[in-house]
Amino acid sequence: MSEETIFSKIIRKEIPADIVYESDNILAFRDINPQAPVHILIIPKIVLPTVREVKGSEHALLLGEMYDVANKIAVQEDIAADGFRLVVNCDKNGGQDVYHLHMHLLGGRQMKWPPG
Ligand code: AMP
Repeated sequence: MSEETIFSKIIRKEIPADIVYESDNILAFRDINPQAPVHILIIPKIVLPTVREVKGSEHALLLGEMYDVANKIAVQEDIAADGFRLVVNCDKNGGQDVYHLHMHLLGGRQMKWPPG
């Protein structure tokens, strides 16, 4: 998969982002339109447009690293103890706008259920 989105430009540092974590495989940066006091996007550097392109046999380590990074950032942002929410939107009904797989890390306030 090689579809480019604005996130590819952020990965290549062609457009600015408030980056909070970077490794060889993962980038995390603050959402430009935060929905909570802490709202960070955790993305793989390879392009997987949606959850539907994720294969356990190929991407298990990458997904594991995304969860590790979420936990690390939650501690860094001081939201780990009170709890947080991880969201991955998929396609139209899931409310996905950017077709580059990303995990939203949301925290710093009480979340509601069911989500909108
Ligand atoms: P989704 O609706 O799950 O595809 O989420 C896409 C998210 O990307 C939204 O929360 C946007 O606010 C966020 N976003 C879009 N462009 C940027 C950008 N340039 N920098 C940071 N976040 C962005």
